[in-house]
Amino acid sequence: MTGDGTVHQAPLLPVTTVGSLPKPAWLAEPEVLWSPWQLHGDVLADGKRDALRAVVHEQQRRGVDIITDGEQTRQHFVTTFIEHLDGVDFDNRETVRIRNRYDASVPTVVGAVGRRASVFVEDAAFLRGQTDLPIKWALPGPMTMIDTLADRHYGSRERLAWEFATILNEEARELEAAGVDIIQFDEPAFNVFFDELKDWGIAALERAAEGLRVETAVHICYGYGIKANTDWKATLGSEWRQYEESFPLLQRSRIDIVSLESQHSNVPIELIELIRGKKVMLGALDVASAHVETPEEVAAVLRRALPFVDADKLIPSSNCGMAPLSREVAFGKLSALSAGAALVRAELAGADS
Ligand SMILES: [Zn+2]
Repeated sequence: MTGDGTVHQAPLLPVTTVGSLPKPAWLAEPEVLWSPWQLHGDVLADGKRDALRAVVHEQQRRGVDIITDGEQTRQHFVTTFIEHLDGVDFDNRETVRIRNRYDASVPTVVGAVGRRASVFVEDAAFLRGQTDLPIKWALPGPMTMIDTLADRHYGSRERLAWEFATILNEEARELEAAGVDIIQFDEPAFNVFFDELKDWGIAALERAAEGLRVETAVHICYGYGIKANTDWKATLGSEWRQYEESFPLLQRSRIDIVSLESQHSNVPIELIELIRGKKVMLGALDVASAHVETPEEVAAVLRRALPFVDADKLIPSSNCGMAPLSREVAFGKLSALSAGAALVRAELAGADS
């Protein structure tokens, strides 16, 4: 359903991306993660909207079926949300270890956290106005949010996660009212903190998604293609079984869609069986490589997954965000993704007749 009330029949294997796409060079320095804005004030606000228009156009032109904002209006997938909250001091920074992997200087929680006003709702409404196709909006997940902060107030990761879940739920309800069709929570931390995942991680995620009528998704990955992540991956051995921890819990949860990485990944594909019944957003584009996949390379990943997921529940996607790539490479990958999905769609139609 879209804002004008038209129901769009989703194609088989609807194509989408995890979230971020490269920004134009006049808005932020290309091929740099979290690079600062090149514009300021009203010009920046205008520039963000123009970048959003362009990224919607590019996705539609290249056959993407579920449109995202490409995170054109945000600098960082977690921090930009936190910047809008009370109780977090951005001048008072501490160095903490992110996802047990790399050190970063992060803001500190110094008081009760709260959301004064909506953070992304205006941007989402603008995106809604740019396309009649379904739109998906990503928010950080509660566990990933607390892992990006130092806490000097709550003294409990679980309590802080619960506060964030409540705040995220308020934001998600407003995004739903603004016409967003799918709300996605990014939880890369689910591939790292397995005890917390079981103790309260899934519960906090479900709290964030509570009462939503639109579809909900969770994205769990091995991170952007930056050095800290590729070094970490090199230590994980020949089989990456991290999803084995979260998938059985998610299978029993109310979350509708699970997003995972698969292209050039050591994740055993049969792990998808653990979320049978859920929709699967399958990463068929490697975001750590500037090689533009061929449609056949995309199709090969989708075919490998089909024994473990019903075709009407498979959503071809990217492994993770594509912000660190050049626009040429990222947009080329979008074309390959939709062409690869079309190959498999035709095979499935042929098998039916
Ligand atoms: Zn990711």
